[in-house]
Amino acid sequence: MSPSDTSSPDYGASTPLAREIADLTRRRIALSEQVLPKPDRPRIFTVANQKGGVGKTTTTVNLAAALARAGMRVLVIDLDPQGNASTALGVDHRADTPSVYDVLINEAPIDDVVQPSPESPNLLCVPATIHLAGAEIELVSLVAREQRLRGAITDYFEEVDQPIDFVFIDCPPSLGLLTINAFVAAREVLIPIQCEYYALEGLSQLLDNIKLVGRHLNPELVVSTILLTMYDSRTNLANQVVEEVREHFPDQVLESLIPRSVRISEAPSYGQTVVGYDLNSAGSLSYREAAGEIALRGEPRRGEN
Ligand code: ADP
Ligand code: MG
Repeated sequence: MSPSDTSSPDYGASTPLAREIADLTRRRIALSEQVLPKPDRPRIFTVANQKGGVGKTTTTVNLAAALARAGMRVLVIDLDPQGNASTALGVDHRADTPSVYDVLINEAPIDDVVQPSPESPNLLCVPATIHLAGAEIELVSLVAREQRLRGAITDYFEEVDQPIDFVFIDCPPSLGLLTINAFVAAREVLIPIQCEYYALEGLSQLLDNIKLVGRHLNPELVVSTILLTMYDSRTNLANQVVEEVREHFPDQVLESLIPRSVRISEAPSYGQTVVGYDLNSAGSLSYREAAGEIALRGEPRRGEN
């Protein structure tokens, strides 16, 4: 057989690696041809799960980067004192940086603290600094303590020159006043679920809290989107989790699964999202596909979910 035969599609598709490469190529081409519609009004998501380490921050920054790449204007609000979303978006968040703390506590306008990510002028970030760790307690004694983020976002939308298409609020792994501010500010909740043992544990508590906020503070709030993260197709367990979550939430779970990927986990150490760091890697393609699904599905109408 001559060496040139190795490049023929039939031969190529016969090894697992070549099949994987062919699959990535097919997905990359499909994405490059995809045109996403802009929403009629800004869609505001809270990315929440009271468990830590399930992929909230990773999902926030990568969906935001994918949508910005597709031409949307996207605002990420980092509401976790860890500031991991700010890090991944490459924006400054040292202690003296104007941040979401100033928005929540000192009523600073978002426009005064927002920074563009070096990754794209369409990708904006309200950073979190270490000061946010104290905000949970400081908020308790403030007026309209649950509505402060919502008010700031409403004011920002009125002032901003270029309209925002998507807002993603990255929450800490707790159900305190910061997360409540996020639930009050958003209309949609996106829950990342890690494909691991105990994936659904604690989820009913989260859903009860969302219902409670819905009843008392924000009747518009719906859990519109569930994304399965850190999926490893080689394990039965991951596949069982996928089945179980799809059974429980048939309308909310996205088709796209986010694979466990080294590229995804190393991107933040370069101050980048995986979309910026390695656009055509499997992890980036998955987040871009998930972003496409979210944009194409549109905001659910009230009562649909
Ligand atoms: P959370 O915000 O829910 O605490 P993170 O998004 O910070 O979770 O993710 C927790 C850890 O897992 C981080 O180190 C992150 O880089 C890593 N991680 C997240 N998603 C993936 C993935 N799909 N593949 C590999 N590592 C991931
Ligand atoms: Mg996080």
